[in-house]
Amino acid sequence: MIRDALTGLPAEIEADVCICGAGPAGIVSALELARRGRRVVLVEGGGLDAPGDAQSVYDGELSGRPYPLLGSRLRWLGGTSNHWGGWVKPLDDQDFRDKPHYPMPAWPFGPEELRPWYAEAARWCEIDSVEYTPESLGREAHRRLLGLEQSTGFTNRVFRFSPPTRFGRRYRDDLEQSENIDCLVNLNAVELTEGEDRVHALVARTVSGQQCTIRARQFVLAMGGIENARFLLNQASVPGNHADLVGRCFMDHYGFTPGKMLSSSNLAYERGSLTGQDVMLVMSPTESLVGEGELRNSCIMLRADSPDSLLAPEYWESQLFGGEQLGGMHGIGMINEPLPHRQSRITLSDERDMLGMRRTHLHWHLPKTEFEPVLALFNRWTTAVSRAGLARVRHLKDSAPELSAHVGIGYHHMGTTRMSAAPEYGVSDADGRCWDRDNLYLAGSSLFPHVGYSNPTLTIVALAARLAQHLSGRLESYA
Ligand SMILES: Cc1cc2nc3c(=O)[nH]c(=O)nc-3n(C[C@H](O)[C@H](O)[C@H](O)COP(=O)(O)OP(=O)(O)OC[C@H]3O[C@@H](n4cnc5c(N)ncnc54)[C@H](O)[C@@H]3O)c2cc1C
Repeated sequence: MIRDALTGLPAEIEADVCICGAGPAGIVSALELARRGRRVVLVEGGGLDAPGDAQSVYDGELSGRPYPLLGSRLRWLGGTSNHWGGWVKPLDDQDFRDKPHYPMPAWPFGPEELRPWYAEAARWCEIDSVEYTPESLGREAHRRLLGLEQSTGFTNRVFRFSPPTRFGRRYRDDLEQSENIDCLVNLNAVELTEGEDRVHALVARTVSGQQCTIRARQFVLAMGGIENARFLLNQASVPGNHADLVGRCFMDHYGFTPGKMLSSSNLAYERGSLTGQDVMLVMSPTESLVGEGELRNSCIMLRADSPDSLLAPEYWESQLFGGEQLGGMHGIGMINEPLPHRQSRITLSDERDMLGMRRTHLHWHLPKTEFEPVLALFNRWTTAVSRAGLARVRHLKDSAPELSAHVGIGYHHMGTTRMSAAPEYGVSDADGRCWDRDNLYLAGSSLFPHVGYSNPTLTIVALAARLAQHLSGRLESYA
């Protein structure tokens, strides 16, 4: 059932699992637990259909790079999926593995661990395929790719698109009809009541000041990549902070358009350019190229663009491309992998929000040195396509400072409660459990230790479905 805390709130509620936050992570873990017969209380700070007063608690202070704290997330049922664009792709296999030139270790498990969960996530995100290789798209796709040999260090990959699923709207009836779910909207998680290494209860509050205590055997924080950290930092003894990592290693994907390219007009890299398939092809570096060159796992996208005066007319008359129809002007875009820097972090401001919690202070650290390996990667790619006679590339931005000055962001908040194989490198273990609490779990992209270039939501949903199985198993063992 769904009820509105503003119209009445019991003083106490009990459940097997208490989940805070009803975005994709919270909704999927709640419904997956309910399907397994577990009783869930799902606490959502926003309302049913639109942001209410509580949206303002997302505001905060900044230092470092500018960042839209308020505009990059939504506080109502379905969370930020009420605005997301629906781009989905699993992380590349290499993203799970340690890279010696990255400052912090990678995932505590390999790519095979998430494979079955990605299939579940595709279903939740309403995507009808789990294939992300160009081979799976058939011969036409193959013919219309830039013919770069794998030996150049580049390979083609596929993004797919969710409708996009608005998780609140799409799964509202399921939440409403589930006998195992008690979803309270307009109710905000504010405090954990703890003893030894366990959480006993959650205190939750409405913006009008009513309060409720929720007792459960397990607790899950699924409030988004910034709020998970802010909530933990607001607790008297900050759970998971044994290694001073709560809030640190904040990352977002960043992008820019480093060049333009003239090539065949028949390329199929643009979204929807392959008939009948809502996919987008991109190019990305192989694991060995990233490792050997101390580069990043970025992706290169091509978008059809109109001819412009940047290229001299003789380019259009060139016979370089073996008589193929010319006229293929493309804008080149890159989405880049940020590294987990400890100094890129969420701390607390001295100002309090309407619920009495200290607001976010975000210091997004994305130094100019991050752009040098990205530029080096772009140069490797332009050399490869030019040498192979596949295209002529014009660089629009040639230096790290120039790239740094023209950064676009992904609105993906990642890394602030990172998973790790050993406690000294993370906030949570491989199940998402706070290393120093027996029954407190995290869900969402705050768990991501390394992030590649893939948009995060498919991985968030895969992890949430996996978490539900884990929690259900633990509840079984208590019985
Ligand atoms: C414009 C835009 C476009 C995007 N496009 C894409 C895309 O194409 N592909 C992609 O993969 N990702 C995209 N994203 C990111 C995507 O929206 C997020 O990855 C996803 O929504 C995160 O899910 P979540 O459940 O972890 O967090 P959220 O969706 O942020 O949900 C968190 C929920 O917790 C609630 N909450 C917060 N604090 C509390 C509290 N104290 N008590 C109770 N409830 C609380 C919030 O109200 C919210 O409902 C985009 C984001 C934006 C802004």
